[in-house]
Amino acid sequence: MTILPVIPISPDQPDAVSTRRRPSMPPRHLADLDLAGRKSAVTSLGEPAFRAKQLSTHYFGRLVRDVSEMTDLPAATRERLTADLLPTLLTPIREQACDDGATRKTLWKLHDGALVESVLMGYPDRVTACVSSQAGCGMACPFCATGQQGLTRNLSVAEIVDQVVYLAGVAASGAVTGSPPRLSRVVFMGMGEPLANYPRVIEAVRRLTTPAPEGLGLSQRHITVSTVGLVPAMRRLIAEQLSVTLALSLHAPDDDLRDELVPVNQRWKVAEVLDAAFDYAAQTGRRVSIEYALIRDVNDHPWRADLLGRLLNGKLAHVNLIPLNPTPGSKWDASPKPVEREFVRRLREAGVAATVRDTRGREIDGACGQLAAGELTHASAGGAAADAEVAQ
Ligand code: SAH
Repeated sequence: MTILPVIPISPDQPDAVSTRRRPSMPPRHLADLDLAGRKSAVTSLGEPAFRAKQLSTHYFGRLVRDVSEMTDLPAATRERLTADLLPTLLTPIREQACDDGATRKTLWKLHDGALVESVLMGYPDRVTACVSSQAGCGMACPFCATGQQGLTRNLSVAEIVDQVVYLAGVAASGAVTGSPPRLSRVVFMGMGEPLANYPRVIEAVRRLTTPAPEGLGLSQRHITVSTVGLVPAMRRLIAEQLSVTLALSLHAPDDDLRDELVPVNQRWKVAEVLDAAFDYAAQTGRRVSIEYALIRDVNDHPWRADLLGRLLNGKLAHVNLIPLNPTPGSKWDASPKPVEREFVRRLREAGVAATVRDTRGREIDGACGQLAAGELTHASAGGAAADAEVAQ
């Protein structure tokens, strides 16, 4: 594991990593607005309308986030625009890399001191950004590190988009060894429940997929929105007519167990949530991804593989099995490999496509379900050792 250079927290911000302040939404940013909104924003600042496109080209086209690097803008203009359209939303607190530089995790401090994390994953043929949609999460899944900390607040559209633009810039700099320089995929699998921050996540998807310079120009198909299964929001997503990939965190094929592993199941049951997922697949023509973290002796029984197989047989779905990443203090562990193989075999025998996800970023707690910026917050608020870790 490599610890990358760290931006120290300045001593004049005593509560920079404290959670005691009440969270609040950040100031407006260029990425919150569409091109028309940016035009009216710049003109109301007394600037010509063409500045909107100029700024957009820098930000989305060239991945320049710092106004001081936009040297074709007059100095006075730069100052005005920084204050009103390009405030700093994300300050990196710590960056870590592992997997020989192919996985990088960034811990961000938001304007109100809330902390979130993003992960960049390089593969030979693609680079994927895993982004957060909320600070913390209110879904309380007991096996997920973020789920243990509760919800701090929703992220704004620009706080989501800026994570991607930053990571696209890292990829473009050639920092992800062995991967193409263009970030091409985004997964909403960082901190938070994307569909619990619905309007902002949808707006962020639009920004990420609108062609440059208005947006980042990614393909909708290369964006994955992962959900615990908020059925009304899934139905709303169907009506948006987007072609993003939907991932459903199922983790159990029976209500008894799913009520415990994914507490929102007490509200929307397995049958109902699968129906919504299948309707999404039918509408988009795209396979839904059924996420299933294999937990030793909890959800990895052969009969559960068979039941899952029956539920998914003939449907436009595939199962993405994730070896559980144990979170600190958890009583649960990943399933043994032979059990995992048997689970896959039974699903395939039932005619259901199943793959086991690679566990990128484990070493830096950057793998699925391990993002838990809040732990750092609590430790830092209460102890010099953790502060030293942050500031080194
Ligand atoms: N709230 C969304 C997205 C965030 S997590 C959702 O639940 O879908 C992305 C995926 O990681 C989800 O499938 C989630 O269930 C899974 N996950 C969470 N904790 C995990 C852990 N400890 N090990 C493996 N996967 C985990």
